[in-house]
Amino acid sequence: MQDSVYPNCSGYLLLSNTGLLGIVCLCHSCHMSVLKFCEHAGLYGINPVDAVQMENGETIAQWTNLYLLKFGVR
Ligand SMILES: [Zn+2]
Repeated sequence: MQDSVYPNCSGYLLLSNTGLLGIVCLCHSCHMSVLKFCEHAGLYGINPVDAVQMENGETIAQWTNLYLLKFGVR
């Protein structure tokens, strides 16, 4: 069975040592950019960092802000 849309695709965030934020999709076990993940999850026309949520309900945008505050990454 093949679906082209994955409305509830889940994954976990991966921050590479180059500072690039990516997502490892759990249903496909593959690494992709946040934007790619959104398209993969069937989310179009919205800001990826506002669309993707963490387990605790934080958006990536909020998470990134906290992360940067905490670790001072630039
Ligand atoms: Zn997937």
